[in-house]
Amino acid sequence: MIRFQCDRCERTIEVEDALGGTKLECPDCGDMNIVPDGDGSGQDAGQRRASEDRAAAAGFPPSSGPEVQVVVVHPALMRANPLLFLGVVLAIAGGLGLVVWFGLFARESSLRWLFWPGVVLLVVASLALVVWKVQKMSHALVITTRRSIERRGLLSRSTSEVLHDNIRNIQIDQSFLERLLNVGTISISSAGQDGVEIQVEKLPAPDDIRKIIDLYREL
Ligand SMILES: [Zn+2]
Repeated sequence: MIRFQCDRCERTIEVEDALGGTKLECPDCGDMNIVPDGDGSGQDAGQRRASEDRAAAAGFPPSSGPEVQVVVVHPALMRANPLLFLGVVLAIAGGLGLVVWFGLFARESSLRWLFWPGVVLLVVASLALVVWKVQKMSHALVITTRRSIERRGLLSRSTSEVLHDNIRNIQIDQSFLERLLNVGTISISSAGQDGVEIQVEKLPAPDDIRKIIDLYREL
């Protein structure tokens, strides 16, 4: 048996010798722990040190120690749909222009009735922008030192996650326009029993995100 302490809650965990060098979720707090080697099999330790160095050398949290969040990425707003974004911004600017002009400067004009369409345009376009932003913020790819997690929803939350060690493939899909704007879809498939697939669309700088995940994988 190997006996060790969870590095977040310090609960004592006992596992079979065969699990030495693997990653194990703490039954109490859910933290990912690296099980120490019972028989001191040097190769695993060497591999781990190498991947730890890659993350730390790149200026990110080392892959050993407590699980910490490395980065949270939300789908892009403007770059995901530049024309729609431009339209909304123009609608807000136009509405604001009508409200200010006919509300303050042209109060005697025969076109003064345009003040009200201006108000409607301003309110509707602003609300649309807020809803759009909230929608983007409610979807996230969270990368920790141990796993990648897809989070959906603000109030009712659904998540799926893949341990970095279980990643079979990270795929980036970009249309021509998306490549120009540096956004893309990241799909992470797992080699674990459940074969989880994480897919987040319109992520900014997808290649940089993949590089960060790769720092914590054994390649
Ligand atoms: Zn724990």
